[in-house]
Amino acid sequence: MHCPYCELEGPRPMLHAHLAEQHSDKVVVRHDEKTGKLFYRLDCSRCDEYSEREVNPRGRDPTFLQQFEREIRLVAFDLLLYHVEAAHE
Ligand SMILES: [Zn+2]
Ligand SMILES: [Zn+2]
Repeated sequence: MHCPYCELEGPRPMLHAHLAEQHSDKVVVRHDEKTGKLFYRLDCSRCDEYSEREVNPRGRDPTFLQQFEREIRLVAFDLLLYHVEAAHE
C-alpha cells in the first residue's frame, strides 16, 4: 500500500513506522478550553475522512502529553492505515 502523504510504497508495518517517523506532525492534538479535555485528530489526505478521539490522561499531569505523544501518534496512524487500506487501495 501507499503512504497517504508521500510516494513511499510498502507493507503496512513498514508504513506505520514511516508515518510515525516522517509524518508525525500530521497528528493534531486539540485542547478543548471549555471542558479541559484533550483530543487528537488525524485527517486523511485523500478524502474528508478523519479520526478524532479523546485522549484520556490519568490525572492532570502536565508532562502527560510529552510522555504519550508518541503512543497517541502510533494509534492515530494505525487507524489511518486501516482507513486507507479499506477506502483507497
Ligand atoms: Zn510518507
Ligand atoms: Zn480517505
